[in-house]
Amino acid sequence: RSSAVSVAPIFTKLKHECATPLPLLRHVADAMAADMRAGLAVDGGSDLKMILSYVDSLPTGYVCIYVYMYVSSGIGVPCHFDPNSLGGKQERVIDTEFEQVSIPQELMFGTSEDLFDFIASGLDKFARKEGGKFYLPSGRKREIGFTFSFPVRQTSIDSGILIKWTKGFAVSGTAGRDVVACLNEAMERQGLDMRVSALVNDTVGTLAGARYWDDDVMVAVILGTGTNACYVERTDTIAKLQGHDSSSGRTIINTEWGAFSNGLPLTVFDREMDDASINPGEQIFEKTISGMYLGEIVRRVLLKIAEAGTFGDSIPEKLSTPFVLRTPDISAMQQDNSDDLKAVGSILYDITGVESNLSARKIVIEVCDTIVKRGSRLAGAGIVGILQKMEEDSQGLIFGKRTVVAMDGGLYEHYPQYRRYLQDAVTELLGLEISKNIRFILLQNRQGKTRLAKYYVPLEDS
Ligand code: ADP
Repeated sequence: RSSAVSVAPIFTKLKHECATPLPLLRHVADAMAADMRAGLAVDGGSDLKMILSYVDSLPTGYVCIYVYMYVSSGIGVPCHFDPNSLGGKQERVIDTEFEQVSIPQELMFGTSEDLFDFIASGLDKFARKEGGKFYLPSGRKREIGFTFSFPVRQTSIDSGILIKWTKGFAVSGTAGRDVVACLNEAMERQGLDMRVSALVNDTVGTLAGARYWDDDVMVAVILGTGTNACYVERTDTIAKLQGHDSSSGRTIINTEWGAFSNGLPLTVFDREMDDASINPGEQIFEKTISGMYLGEIVRRVLLKIAEAGTFGDSIPEKLSTPFVLRTPDISAMQQDNSDDLKAVGSILYDITGVESNLSARKIVIEVCDTIVKRGSRLAGAGIVGILQKMEEDSQGLIFGKRTVVAMDGGLYEHYPQYRRYLQDAVTELLGLEISKNIRFILLQNRQGKTRLAKYYVPLEDS
């Protein structure tokens, strides 16, 4: 068959367009740093929202028992602890219980009320189960900490306006509203005796929690379904900050870097995926580097090479279905070390209906690698951009000493190639000497899945 002949140009072009040589990475890192500055100068000054977290020091200063509800692409995780008991670090967590609740697909496209009613009823069930286990003084409402992983313009520690939905959510009636009020109202509708007293972005929660264990943590990055990053900023460098006092002189800035778009190497596959998305033109960095999209980009490439005859004459219908191929699938294929790439063949067949011989499987693996390498290296450049910005403002205090970047998210955790490429890009950009000072730790909680990093323990210090 002549398939290799017709596929070669498509593949060569893809590799060329997705290449991330050092000068390109430098440019991306510089652009990230510049966008951060622009976003700190004035609201709306940049793609990056650079949101004030109102978190100057966490986790101290909280009251009573918290139920953390983490809302993301499909899970809510409540758990609780007692920050009032001032024992050792471990003792402050009196218990963690968690429950994962999938958010039904239809609620992702439904009304705000329906979604928040669902969350409130999840909390209700959870609270009922733990019942009398935790003593609350009478007349006292249960205080809830709300961890919300979407861009929110925070106006105080317990209020924040949803800027927009991301990660495939398109719930009507929430954008522009205070998400704390949304949840409080839903809890009231259901007669729940609870009140949200702190709203914490999930990235910010990760950073604050990681600093609790390690003072050198300066940056937190989430690479999961979506992506975001936050870091510790000096308040005197934030021009747009008015009237917000911080005794520590520092605050956590939530970059919302998923919206970054400067200098990214994009292909026709990215542009077509973006056009077909519910938020065209938005979250371009997120669409290039995060777990929700990597598999879909690969699928689009595979469809194109299928049309060139690589997988035989007919194109399986499944391969034409958006988002059938998920990032964990391409990750699984890349872990296949066998000579005949048997696992690649069966995953490919089961998920996309594609029948492949060895040479076709090799092409598939290379496509996966190309897309994943691009995404992870760009993520690495973004991290370097943040570190660079911090270093510029405080010479020697970032690059000249141990600085820790706390990493979290299923993509970073479960995709070894992604992790390695990201690390390689950081080392290339910073050079061996400086990169020895920059430590990445993967955070993972002990008992379940929540980004409230109270429950996280560093897994590795590489
Ligand atoms: P969230 O949905 O809140 O981001 P996670 O941090 O757990 O939750 O990230 C889940 C995402 O991580 C999935 O959507 C997927 O993209 C990615 N992921 C999960 N498992 C794997 C895996 N084995 N290999 C690669 N990516 C994975």
